[in-house]
Amino acid sequence: MNKKIYHTPTDHNFVINTLNRIATDNPILFMTTLGSSVLGKPIPAVRIGTGKTNLLYVGCHHGAEHITSGILLKFLEELCCCIKTGTKIYGIDPEYIFRTRCIYMVPMLNPDGVELYIHGANEEMPLYQRLIKMNNGTDFSKWQANIRGVDLNHNYDAGFYEYKELEKEMGISTPCSQRFSGEYPESEPETAALCNFIRVISPFKYLFSFHSQGEEIYSGYNGFEPKGSVRAAKMLALYSGYTHTLPKEKAASYGGLKDWYVNTFKLPAYTIECGRGENPLPPSDLIPIYVSIRKMLFKSLIL
Ligand SMILES: [Zn+2]
Repeated sequence: MNKKIYHTPTDHNFVINTLNRIATDNPILFMTTLGSSVLGKPIPAVRIGTGKTNLLYVGCHHGAEHITSGILLKFLEELCCCIKTGTKIYGIDPEYIFRTRCIYMVPMLNPDGVELYIHGANEEMPLYQRLIKMNNGTDFSKWQANIRGVDLNHNYDAGFYEYKELEKEMGISTPCSQRFSGEYPESEPETAALCNFIRVISPFKYLFSFHSQGEEIYSGYNGFEPKGSVRAAKMLALYSGYTHTLPKEKAASYGGLKDWYVNTFKLPAYTIECGRGENPLPPSDLIPIYVSIRKMLFKSLIL
């Protein structure tokens, strides 16, 4: 496996090219798209395994957190390799995983936000003037939202209207680089596509949403923990060295994918904050982070 290629900033092209490469090498991988972003970029999704236990891994809600897409792709590539060669990993039999699990992965939910973050804006872009206004200038180094200035991980239907009150307290009333939740839940094509997909395929035994950074694992919603949620979170923490914790900031616990899934399906979901430092984590952190959570990722298949 070529480690060097994962040092590239993980933009949308990188994700598509890497998925195509993995799929070419592994015909067992099924590729599709959930839908399109605001600017029409496909949101890729993959499935592997023929079992009845569904699992879902979602990366990159936030523009500055594109490293999570690379981490998930690396996991996918190694998983495919283990299945192909029959190599056990952490004592896990890959044939058993393939037969009993149906693993879904959405490595990059917010392609437009990532492109803006990595490549910046130019005057040819649709929404250029609006973007400059929303961002108060051309420095997009704090950009987390989608291209319309909606923070996708506050756009789910879980405490959405309570969060609107918090937005007011934070002085947020219009689309901007982060934390604006949108006009209504699932107002954005990216979140609507993912929720529709989840509604069709569910139940997922576990859902994992990857962010950066903090080396923390969040579970539950508004004090509610589904059956088995805390036990599994403790296992994830044990395997990664990350801390299982409750949200420190009130604002972090509303309108997120984890919140919506736990609240709607009463099944465990986790926000996993990868890495440590300040966002954006440099591309050179990708492999060290992957190595540090590799055991957790593989063990999450058999929680
Ligand atoms: Zn995030």
